[in-house]
Amino acid sequence: MQRLTTIAETRATVARHRADGARIGFVPTMGFLHDGHLSLVRHAADLADVVLVSIFVNPAQFGPGEDLAAYPRDLAGDEAKLAGLGAAAPAYTFVPTVAEMYPRERVTTVRVAHLTYRLCGAARPGHFDGVATVVTKLFNIVAPDVAVFGRKDFQQLRVVQRMVEDLDQPVEVVGGPTVREPDGLAMSSRNTYLTGADRDAARTLSRALRTAVEVARDARITGRSADPGMIQHAARVTLTADPRVRVDYVEVLDADTLAPPDQPGGEGTETGHGEPDNRQRLLVAVAANVGPARLIDNVVIGDGEDEDRLLHATDSA
Ligand code: AMP
Repeated sequence: MQRLTTIAETRATVARHRADGARIGFVPTMGFLHDGHLSLVRHAADLADVVLVSIFVNPAQFGPGEDLAAYPRDLAGDEAKLAGLGAAAPAYTFVPTVAEMYPRERVTTVRVAHLTYRLCGAARPGHFDGVATVVTKLFNIVAPDVAVFGRKDFQQLRVVQRMVEDLDQPVEVVGGPTVREPDGLAMSSRNTYLTGADRDAARTLSRALRTAVEVARDARITGRSADPGMIQHAARVTLTADPRVRVDYVEVLDADTLAPPDQPGGEGTETGHGEPDNRQRLLVAVAANVGPARLIDNVVIGDGEDEDRLLHATDSA
């Protein structure tokens, strides 16, 4: 595994592999790697010949007062974990400095509309501008054939997929499932902020999603379609039951458009008569502050595998 730090050497390195006919896989991260990140790297190794993992805490996606300075960093630990993947270890890490990525005032921004209006886009103004812009830069530097993103950040995945479609960026964007701790808590670099009772309270997020899946399944058993309002209510009740959990949002949206499920969203889910489409996949997304950590989690109802994974992971919670 070799560390690349400049844009020029990264371009030259990838170009050499491409000339040899290699398929390039890419996993962008902000480091402080955990098993969720590593699962994406394994996935990329299955899809590509040469894999590159970027480690870059992108200032452009942090708002004022957010945790940019405190964001955990451990480059040596990250590279040891990646090397520990053995045959699935990436060939390269790309670890640029902020000055390498942003050498001058940046006056260009990539902005994805609609999909960013709700959820974390509403809670963190400018966040997805920073994400879309840095991901575009990274795609331009690495020129991957395939890039793997986590479904843990479901809105981010959809934003990147839509950006790639709209801008004809020549990369396939693949989503990997959320990896969880034994009690159901979605793995996150920010979990390191959680101690003691806060850590216990954090599992309330995945338990709220479990409640949502159970309500949807109960409805289906009785032949009804899952009612978004009922699902949202059930999740909210579970999430607000713990006073340590300061709820930011509990939303149920169309998983493709990220618009309210009974609205067409202008993106092609219309049934033709203004009726809700029962085949719609429903994203149940939650965000909450627990102690000093802002945590997010989600499940897609109507995606049987995602529902099963969530139920299985929260069995013992
Ligand atoms: P980050 O370092 O937090 O920017 O995350 C880098 C990538 O890892 C993103 O595509 C995330 O969605 C993904 N990721 C983060 N946590 C998890 C998790 N628990 N399971 C799967 N993927 C994850």
